[in-house]
Amino acid sequence: MYAVTLCGICRRARIIDRSSKQTTCPYCNGTEKTSQMTVYFESNDQSKARDALAQLEGFESPDEKAKKKKIEKADPYSTMVYKYEHASDLDEKMMILAKELTRIKGTFTIDDVREIVGDKHAEQYVSAMLDRCYISEIRIGQYKG
Ligand SMILES: [Zn+2]
Repeated sequence: MYAVTLCGICRRARIIDRSSKQTTCPYCNGTEKTSQMTVYFESNDQSKARDALAQLEGFESPDEKAKKKKIEKADPYSTMVYKYEHASDLDEKMMILAKELTRIKGTFTIDDVREIVGDKHAEQYVSAMLDRCYISEIRIGQYKG
């Protein structure tokens, strides 16, 4: 039986073989009785124990992976929102919206604009962008920069 455990002396995670009575930590050389160690995961399959160890150490935990992916995916959008929020004037804000929304979504709707500028100003923004030819209405309600 393989078990994932923490060394009682240096607190580092490692895999031990529960069939032996005692185990020596490869990090600190401390010897402990396997029966007295706290077991976090146990399996006959050494590769499963290794996976559990990796998670305990924080490497490649599935949660972290999913988080990273989410950030990557959300990134062009949050970059746009950041640029928008830090633009110095209205004209620049509109240009950012027109360019970035088109780049991210292909075409966009007033709802997409609303998500960024808020309910109050969405219509104003869209009509001002149309006036300045930053965007054009390629189908009813569908805009493109
Ligand atoms: Zn140790």
